[in-house]
Amino acid sequence: MTTIEVPDIRIPTDLLPADGRFGSGPSKVRPEALAALAGVGVTWMGTSHRQAPVKAVVASVRSGLAELLRLPAGYEVLLGNGGTTAFWDAAVFGLIADHSQHLAFGEFSSKFAGAVAAAPHLEAPDVIESPPGTHPEVRAGEGIDLYALTHNETSTGVAMALRRPAGVAADEALVAVDATSAAGAVLFDPEEVDVYYLAPQKALAADGGLWLAACSPAAVDRIGRLRSPKRWCPPSLDLGIALDNSRADQTYNTPALATLFLVDQQLRWLNGNGGLEWAAARCGRSAAALYGWAEASDHASPFVADPAQRSPVVGTVDLDASVDAGTVSAVLRANGIVDTDAYRKLGRNQVRVGMFPAVEPDDVAALCACIDHVVAALTA
Ligand SMILES: *Cc1c(COP(=O)(O)O)cnc(C)c1O
Repeated sequence: MTTIEVPDIRIPTDLLPADGRFGSGPSKVRPEALAALAGVGVTWMGTSHRQAPVKAVVASVRSGLAELLRLPAGYEVLLGNGGTTAFWDAAVFGLIADHSQHLAFGEFSSKFAGAVAAAPHLEAPDVIESPPGTHPEVRAGEGIDLYALTHNETSTGVAMALRRPAGVAADEALVAVDATSAAGAVLFDPEEVDVYYLAPQKALAADGGLWLAACSPAAVDRIGRLRSPKRWCPPSLDLGIALDNSRADQTYNTPALATLFLVDQQLRWLNGNGGLEWAAARCGRSAAALYGWAEASDHASPFVADPAQRSPVVGTVDLDASVDAGTVSAVLRANGIVDTDAYRKLGRNQVRVGMFPAVEPDDVAALCACIDHVVAALTA
């Protein structure tokens, strides 16, 4: 670990964004949602999750997510504790029958493949990789019962279109999509997926600790066929138990009440403003500001070469070798602009910018001007 001396560079106040949170997860939580939480603080926090007020919010989260994602009839929203990482473990027990295929193109998509590879009860997964900054394509294969895709690879800023593998019928294999950083911000057709799962500390602008999964009838059927006692599973990871509890607007064990409240606030805000189309257009404006700036800049360039694969929610921008991106992020942090650091394991001279629906497109444009200011000061 090297400690960076942070150069004393003050960014003029009129250049600064109104809100300096650009993290890719946890990400900016809207001040209005936090004020609403504070407003109900003493009647909400510290109350039972088995009583009507909390169950009503769980019901609202389930129906709000179904509305936002425009789920077809028959799809159900499940939820449980432990975030996306716990959901991967649950999927190892309760969604994959024998053999899965994984598109691995960054830290998160590779982690799910790794969890499957370590499971003694499953066949070794079919893992298709591509270099960071790109995504591989699905290859329909004999005997594959689950295809694992990632809507937005948060570590590299690569987004992919969601389609069932060519020639694979909807009831032949499940398509399971890690949508942790895309859900509620990127358009897709739910008919092309069976499990669209996420944790709410990214595009849904809440806090971590929870997983949510929109499941098609085929996915619900698979959960029923694999659930214990048919296959042993730790109860906290048992999707059958999660299904029963979700249908009763509960979780198997105690959830974080603040997280539930904040997810509900964000879903209401998104649905009330025009839903997924609106959110996607808003993120599109932020992304146009960031990538447009980077393309025009002589010290910055978009990391993802193919514009079609550039994420509209997590922007990765390489900086010229003459400026150290870590120093730029540190100077930004000293000026109240936080979490623009590159994903550490990617090891690039890069900034990474969360452009989720909660982030103001004008603030992204302001951030670009601030980076220009810092680069100019560092290279002067
Ligand atoms: C953040 C992230 C995860 C991990 O989520 P946790 O809730 O921390 O387990 C998984 N997948 C993607 C795409 C992510 O962005």
